[in-house]
Amino acid sequence: MSHAYPQLQLFINGQWLSSEGRKSEPVFNPVDESVLGDLPHASQADLQAALQAANGAFESWKRTSPLARSDILRKAASLIRERATHIATCMTLEQGKPLRESRLEVLAAADTYDWYAEEGRRNYGRLVPGKTPTQRIAVHHEPVGVCAAFAPWNFPAITPARKIAGALAAGCTLILKPAEETPATAQELVRVLHDAGLPAGVLNMVFGVPAEVSGYLLDQPEIAKFSFTGSTAVGKMLAAQAARSMKRATLELGGHAPVIVWKDADVAKVADALVAGKFRNAGQVCISPTRFYVHREVFDRFVAAFVERTRQLKVGNGLEEASNMGPLANPRRIEALTRLIADAQKRGATLHTGGKRMPGAGFFWEPTVLSHVDEDAGLMNEEPFGPVALINPVDDMEEALRRANRLQYGLAAYAFTQDSGVRQQLANGVQTGMLGINTLNISMAEAPFGGVKESGWGSECGIEGLQAYCNIKLVSEDQ
Ligand code: NAD
Repeated sequence: MSHAYPQLQLFINGQWLSSEGRKSEPVFNPVDESVLGDLPHASQADLQAALQAANGAFESWKRTSPLARSDILRKAASLIRERATHIATCMTLEQGKPLRESRLEVLAAADTYDWYAEEGRRNYGRLVPGKTPTQRIAVHHEPVGVCAAFAPWNFPAITPARKIAGALAAGCTLILKPAEETPATAQELVRVLHDAGLPAGVLNMVFGVPAEVSGYLLDQPEIAKFSFTGSTAVGKMLAAQAARSMKRATLELGGHAPVIVWKDADVAKVADALVAGKFRNAGQVCISPTRFYVHREVFDRFVAAFVERTRQLKVGNGLEEASNMGPLANPRRIEALTRLIADAQKRGATLHTGGKRMPGAGFFWEPTVLSHVDEDAGLMNEEPFGPVALINPVDDMEEALRRANRLQYGLAAYAFTQDSGVRQQLANGVQTGMLGINTLNISMAEAPFGGVKESGWGSECGIEGLQAYCNIKLVSEDQ
């Protein structure tokens, strides 16, 4: 076991609970498949206790002043920054991404706590002019109540941080179930709040068999809202269950981001940005640039530049400074990529580099570039969630938009061009929740993050992220 890796625990009603006397599961390091720790599963009694704690803490947390809530979140953000090296090391150990990326993510989690700490103080309602001189119409924002949140393994800091900070800043209490594959990072984000003086019961963290935990919580009348980040298939199941009792929902689901590279693009510069972006976190990113539609005039040059840079990437243990890309987080992605790449090649795609698992221990996959990929190939329709770039030529804007919009996903999209007319066509025409033009930077605490179509409901971050944890109450008064 690694010394850097903490003992894994549940956190219920302000208490840390170990795996002693509970079912548990091992947590693996994807670099060599060694066991990092033993993760306790919450029993039925633990889940009930978490629910009771969150419910019991709600009234007083709701009445706690936004300033007092903000103080705790800001103190927790400072603690994250102080402990950034430790938390980032935990993340790289359990998830695999290079330490540099883990560190940036941890700091982004601190920014998220800070953002919501401030935004919670500006949770303004409004006064609406009455219909008569004596009528007074007020719109109040109230916390929705007890919330449940389910976070995935690909961004083990930022995804729990958005859910925790959004709920707490709005005055809600929360039961969080982070991913079982990456529990230590979330645990450290919960620990900073505990250390910052968060009252018992406001935030609870449980682990278990995902379907059993969500199945239990989403049936409970005390839960007013849930937030889920993960696959579209699971999101639909959870939304269907929660709809039975009309729970509010925020869903951040899968994506299959198109990237439109126009004929005026600076090919070398765009290839630099896109290789870095595509292979970040080994492509296990819901907003990863994936389907490249490149104007035919620059297509060959772009493919050559992209492939050349991809071949230079160093794949290895994320704890080593030189590694540009770590392993995949789990063996499920290895199976999926094997199947999807074989299918694309069978349908005539050209493989330029990569395409297979790397020999030896760990879940390493070669950075892969395919071009001329048939639209019917699984890879063009199913989220690859791995280090695979798919590059196809397009002739005009009508074709680029049609192909960009053809899937049921609508999370992120990107475009590279200096042509302002083209930029307007893209801004108006791409069916997406987020569009990056000449940038891949579309995720920040200040701005709403979310998708359209089957990529989800609602947003996290930005003012929208706070409002997602609020009910609207109208109060109409007269003499
Ligand atoms: P999966 O569909 O089994 O699980 C996705 C996530 O949902 C995991 O974190 C898992 O713990 C959780 N989950 C699964 N069933 C659940 C349930 N019944 N209740 C609550 N949580 C549940 O897929 P996976 O193999 O873990 O990940 C692969 C796919 O998931 C990818 O192809 C991608 O589409 C999607 N994914 C998306 C994101 C994102 O950021 N939107 C993150 C992780 C995974």
